[in-house]
Amino acid sequence: QVGRIKVSARHLLQLIEEILLFARVDAGQESFEVAEVRIPELVEEVRAILDPLAADKGLEFRVSTDGTPETFRSDPRKLRQVLLNLLVNAVKFTDQGRVELRIEPDGEDGVRFHVIDTGRGMHPDEVAHIFEPFWQSDSSLTRKAGGSGLGLAISRRYVEMLGGEIVVRTDPGAGSAFTAVLPSMKPEA
Ligand code: ADP
Repeated sequence: QVGRIKVSARHLLQLIEEILLFARVDAGQESFEVAEVRIPELVEEVRAILDPLAADKGLEFRVSTDGTPETFRSDPRKLRQVLLNLLVNAVKFTDQGRVELRIEPDGEDGVRFHVIDTGRGMHPDEVAHIFEPFWQSDSSLTRKAGGSGLGLAISRRYVEMLGGEIVVRTDPGAGSAFTAVLPSMKPEA
C-alpha cells in the first residue's frame, strides 16, 4: 500500500512540475543558457535513462552519431529534456521492435537529432494536434502509461527558443520519426 502511495505521489509531482514548467514557458518566463554541448556526454546521460526503459518493454535502443562533431553550442539542459521527451514517448508508443536516436551534422555547424520508433505511428489528423498543450490521442492509453500531454508542446517551444525546429514523419502502423534541427548558437546569444 505504501509503495502504491509513493508511486501516485511521484506521478502527481511530475504532473505538477510539468504544468508549472509549461505555464512558465507560455508566459515567456523561461530563459536559456548557451554552453558547449558535449555529444558523447549527452548520449551517456540519455542512455542511462533509456536503456532500462527500453529493456523493460523488450525493445532495442540504438544510438548513432556518425560524422557528428563532438561538440556544438546550445542549452545542454533544455536539449537533454527535449530528447528525453521524444525518446520516452517513442518507448511509450512502441510495443515491438526498436527505438533509435540518430545524431547527424546539419549544415556548417548545426546538429540534427532524429528519434525513430517502430511503434504505432499516427494518422495525419492526429499529427495536426500533437504539439498542442494537453492534447493526447488516447487519454486512456496515456493514463495507463503516464503523461500530461505537455511534453511535445514544451519540446517545440524549447527547440524554437534555441533557434531550431522540430518536425515529424509518421504513418499509422509504420512508426514515427521526430527530428529536431538545432543550430550552433553564438556564445553571447
Ligand atoms: P504525453 O506523452 O504526455 O501524452 P506529449 O505532448 O508528449 O504528451 O504527446 C502528445 C501525444 O502525441 C501523445 O499522447 C500521443 O498521442 C502522441 N505521440 C507522441 N509521440 C508519439 C510517438 N512516438 N508515437 C505515437 N504517438 C505519439
